[in-house]
Amino acid sequence: MKVLVINCGSSSLKYQLIDMSNEEVLAKGLAERIGIEGARVKHQPTGKEDVLIEKPMSDHKKAIEIVLNALVDSDHGAIHSMDEINAVGHRVVHGGEKFSESVVIDEKVLKAIEECSELAPLHNPPNIMGIKACQELMPNTPMVAVFDTAFHQTMPESSYIYPIPYEMYEKYGIRRYGFHGTSHKYVANRAADMLGKDIKDLKIVTCHLGNGASVAAVKNGKSIETSMGFTPLEGLAMGTRSGDIDPAIIVYLMEKENMTIDEVNTMLNKKSGVLGISGVSSDFRDIEGAASEGNHRSQLALEKFNMRVKKYIGAYSAIMKGIDVLVFTAGLGENSVETRQEICKGLEFIGIDIDEDNNKVRGKETELNKEESKVKILLIPTNEELMIARDTKSLV
Ligand code: ADP
Repeated sequence: MKVLVINCGSSSLKYQLIDMSNEEVLAKGLAERIGIEGARVKHQPTGKEDVLIEKPMSDHKKAIEIVLNALVDSDHGAIHSMDEINAVGHRVVHGGEKFSESVVIDEKVLKAIEECSELAPLHNPPNIMGIKACQELMPNTPMVAVFDTAFHQTMPESSYIYPIPYEMYEKYGIRRYGFHGTSHKYVANRAADMLGKDIKDLKIVTCHLGNGASVAAVKNGKSIETSMGFTPLEGLAMGTRSGDIDPAIIVYLMEKENMTIDEVNTMLNKKSGVLGISGVSSDFRDIEGAASEGNHRSQLALEKFNMRVKKYIGAYSAIMKGIDVLVFTAGLGENSVETRQEICKGLEFIGIDIDEDNNKVRGKETELNKEESKVKILLIPTNEELMIARDTKSLV
């Protein structure tokens, strides 16, 4: 069985074609600048040279058409005909309270996803465009939606409710949803596999540290708390997002700086986080570089980032009444030796004891802890596409 995984952004589209008989990636790629000038697809067939296809793409349907043609191309393709694609798995950001697991897409499901757009106005509409475009081009192929929020639907009421008037939850669905669920679920399950343990017997803290970053508490295989909330703005300090701040700052700034709602929103989402503190970059590689040359604000940005991850690890250990496994994943978690070292430093009192030499590794599954560490510390590269393909396979 071959599954095409689609992840649509507003002007981009990532794809992977996976052979589920051995979970091998046959081809992957990225379509960029959809709907604007300079549109292109970077197509990477496994075992063949990458190709860059530069063609105008007025919309997502056109982009998917070009991707499908690339996949069946006699030169740089990966399959002979489109009929070989047995199912399509779509990443959908927000499933609200309606979806606690992946589902086969039918008209009713599509309508429910559209209703969730109100909660994720930037993310769900492009996801829906991707689904509709695929349905038009492959009307007989089954499609599955896999939600970023689904894994966190197991959070208890006390975790997801905000301490604001309850009517706001009833009226608008204002509650904590959490994101990166596919990634947290994947690495938590991989952690149990790597340790040869049943996930139902483990208390795991998973740290997804990329440009967007979140931490989750996974107890007995279920997410019971996570740092992102109503939107992906809550929680950790991120590349450009503030994470937790005193909400009174918003009103104060609107008054003092005459800022509009849009301006405050842009500031908190695009100009804050480690970019905001350092003034250097949102990319941790640049900030680590500047910090090592003595740039104080870059050092401060890294300290703030690490301290907040540490705070969440402590908090989640308390909530779960202990911690057995700590997992690092995503761009920064998989690649930054310093970040992992700094986050773990000082956590020996709860049994987190990282080994400096074991930690000198990037991007591959590794046990990072000292032999005597009570808590297992694991680096696990995330693989959201594979998780989407697996759900798609099992549902179809
Ligand atoms: P997202 O999917 O949220 O865009 P990623 O998971 O791809 O983010 O992570 C991207 C981030 O990972 C980059 O901003 C960069 O700061 C960080 N990163 C990647 N490689 C390294 C590295 N070698 N050292 C430090 N940070 C890295």
